[in-house]
Amino acid sequence: MRRILKHLLLMILCISMLGSLSCAKVENERSVSSDSSSSTEPSFKEIINSNEEAEETYSSSVVTELPSFSDTSETPPTESKIRSNKVDPGIRVDFIDVGQGDASLIVCNGEAMMIDGGSSDKSDLIYSYLEAHGVYDLKYVVATHPDDDHIGGLSGAIHEASVERAFCSVNEYDSRPFENYRKSLNEQGVTIEVPNAGDTLDLGGAKVTFIAPIETYEENNNNSIVIRIVYDEVSFLFTGDAEILEEKSILESGQDIKSNVIKIGHHGSSYSSTKDFLNAVSPSLAVISCAEGNDFGFPKQSVLDRLKKMEVKLFRTDLNGRISIYSADGKTLTIYRDKELGDPFLAPAVPQSDPSVVYNCDYILNNSSRKFHLPECESVEKMNPKNRLEYNGDRDELIEAGYEPCQICNP
Ligand SMILES: [Zn+2]
Ligand SMILES: [Zn+2]
Repeated sequence: MRRILKHLLLMILCISMLGSLSCAKVENERSVSSDSSSSTEPSFKEIINSNEEAEETYSSSVVTELPSFSDTSETPPTESKIRSNKVDPGIRVDFIDVGQGDASLIVCNGEAMMIDGGSSDKSDLIYSYLEAHGVYDLKYVVATHPDDDHIGGLSGAIHEASVERAFCSVNEYDSRPFENYRKSLNEQGVTIEVPNAGDTLDLGGAKVTFIAPIETYEENNNNSIVIRIVYDEVSFLFTGDAEILEEKSILESGQDIKSNVIKIGHHGSSYSSTKDFLNAVSPSLAVISCAEGNDFGFPKQSVLDRLKKMEVKLFRTDLNGRISIYSADGKTLTIYRDKELGDPFLAPAVPQSDPSVVYNCDYILNNSSRKFHLPECESVEKMNPKNRLEYNGDRDELIEAGYEPCQICNP
């Protein structure tokens, strides 16, 4: 069954890749002017899949700069063509659309690294993604913290590729997704390392720096591993689910976090992305990874307003699907995304359900967050009806199936 599913996912992925091959268009080109104080500011251009009108605006010479995975050639990609990504020069960061969660694949001059892998139910998707892109070796795998929407899907990555070194904010944690991560690494003889702030790694010529955690806080999110990657003149900051406390400790540490691209903390939560932190990063591009219609109402309008004020170019996996940002020369950035839906600076409407509904079941499950609640829990009302499931049965069964008890109603 698992194999069939894997093949099905691979097929879907291939079909969607074919789609992007035949209709990738150049939408817009914009240069960010650089003054003497910010000579590291790269220019960037944008490419979106399926924007019919924009085609004439730009010369075909721009199109030929696309990497092989979004080549405009009409020829279907052969295996070897997809796999040639392994030797594409420069750096490429893929923000994979994993619904509610984070998953980034970074490939620099043929060396690959994963930062988070989405939730456990995305494990097969991650497996197929790496397989389709010819990634058999992951030099580094990082689970920013042990929450399922980050660590869960990494098992798929570890099953597809051999791993040299693996990291997490902790090396012990009592949850099934963490256990799966640890076990699949152990099968390869790899143990989980907890990095220290300031540690560095080399990824195909890019410098990877662990910026945090610096302090230890009570909450997983605030102990997230935060990573800065610099390749020549382009830079990326990955913040996991870091919130205010961790952002503050990073600022106090005085480390250089200025980056062209930021993966916004905690899916655009209002407890992250403080003004001071964003100012210190001073990004040109920002990416938010979250699911369409998620239960939490991410990203929050307050964060979007801050980004808009800073005139940051914003991309969201809920609106753009997969987002790839790459630089062959280490100076200019190109952005590719699957689609373009709606205004990125507009927060989603929080779905409201009828509060008069009374549930006649033992538990209410959330199929997106993988949490279970008592029927009377206040979060049941706020839940997106799409993800809500009534359940009659045993608590232990749910935990065995990978669900976690809600921390508000303690079922
Ligand atoms: Zn998260
Ligand atoms: Zn988290």
